[in-house]
Amino acid sequence: MNKQSLFPSKLTKIIATIGPATSSPEMLEQLLLAGMNVVRINSSHGDHKAHKEVITNIRKLDRDLNTSTAILIDLQGPKLRVGEIEGGQTELVESNQLVIKVGAGEGTDKVLYTDYEQFAEDVKAGEPILLDDGKLRLEVISTDGKSEVICKVIHGGNLSSRKGLNLPQTKISLPCITKKDEKDLAFALEENVDWIGLSFVRSASDINALKSIIKKHNKHARVVAKIEKPEAIIDLDAILEAADAVMIARGDLGVEVPMQDVPLIQKDIISKCLTLGRPVIVATQMMESMIESATPTRAEVNDVANAVLDGTDAVMLSAETSVGKYPIHAVRAMTQIINSMEANNQKPFNERPPYNPDDERFISDSICYNACRLARRTKASAIVTMTYSGYTAQKVSSQRPKATIFMFTSNREVLNQMNLVWGVKTVFYEKMVSTDHTIADIKYLLFKDGNVKEGDFVVHVASMPIADTGMTNMLKLVRV
Ligand code: PGA
Ligand code: MN
Repeated sequence: MNKQSLFPSKLTKIIATIGPATSSPEMLEQLLLAGMNVVRINSSHGDHKAHKEVITNIRKLDRDLNTSTAILIDLQGPKLRVGEIEGGQTELVESNQLVIKVGAGEGTDKVLYTDYEQFAEDVKAGEPILLDDGKLRLEVISTDGKSEVICKVIHGGNLSSRKGLNLPQTKISLPCITKKDEKDLAFALEENVDWIGLSFVRSASDINALKSIIKKHNKHARVVAKIEKPEAIIDLDAILEAADAVMIARGDLGVEVPMQDVPLIQKDIISKCLTLGRPVIVATQMMESMIESATPTRAEVNDVANAVLDGTDAVMLSAETSVGKYPIHAVRAMTQIINSMEANNQKPFNERPPYNPDDERFISDSICYNACRLARRTKASAIVTMTYSGYTAQKVSSQRPKATIFMFTSNREVLNQMNLVWGVKTVFYEKMVSTDHTIADIKYLLFKDGNVKEGDFVVHVASMPIADTGMTNMLKLVRV
């Protein structure tokens, strides 16, 4: 049986963060059937033992169901937090003063702790301190430059233990890859995950640092740059260039920059990613109310729909699926919204021709561009790429063609990895005999599985000779 038909057919991908609510094999299978394409593990929560179980479960399901689920692990990065609070929570009252001390201890409404050692050194009088995703706001009155910072409460409210602390106007001297991240990264590489998300990226050099560690370990994982700092917006072009994919991490981003700036930042990043052929993810609070409720709000439905219309590769769920009460409902609702948008979307084909003949990928890029044009003119039902690196599939996808994108590869690593990318359907295929033979064979396989009908046009993107991997130079139009 062709098991693919069990799964929702859609172009925009869904990333679900896995946690206690969804880590069992039964729940993971339900998530796959509801439309999940990528499993996300957040290193900020849970331990390696729990994460390993999730990875083992999803890999087994992939074998049983013939799916190719991508695995993304997020490194926490320089995320700042307040320490424990006496009795679990306290109330900060507007215009009161309090002191934040470096070190461990139980906080109260007069003193809070943080383990960020350079805190008193980095902050300056007048700078804002935001707590619990910006719900509470303090202002620095003075700092002793060593271990104590006196603050005034601007917006008060309840504060519980270990809540996040954001310093949007402070130059933070912590490295992008912390001691904890090093351990989490070692685990992720050991487990051969497909994607590694780097949090609080501030510059392209953060991405390059992570990439060189991955390379040193000879691993295939690619890097997702999480855009959630004002510094990243300033260095955006270089970061997009350096990263393999990008996440618009709206949770922290909306605290670090004015929240009303986030919608245009989202549209700008997506548009730039489409031009670069860089996969892009819209993340956080997309279905937030479904943590507690079986249906989303109308505003949430619109948010997911608009991300799809903006042209995102993937939409992401966080607490909705990791700890929420309705994780399957949340993925299913997303699938329904995506399907409705994709069925009715009249958005034009994203035609962005390669313009630089000196670019080393100019030939490949020109082939991919013209494959999409040809598919459009002939109303082809499929574009087939044969790729070892996934590059051509990604490049074809970035033009958002109407024809279905099939990526045939003998590289198992890329097979799962590319499941993050808009519209790409991956197929494992090893029989690379000759270009002619392979094209005929693939045409037969697509027909046999009901992916194309008699009379359909199929556009093939390939390299000739076939052994010349990485050098896509050929376009062929065939009729089934
Ligand atoms: P997080 O990142 O869930 O790791 O915080 C996403 C975001 O900040 O939006
Ligand atoms: Mn974040």
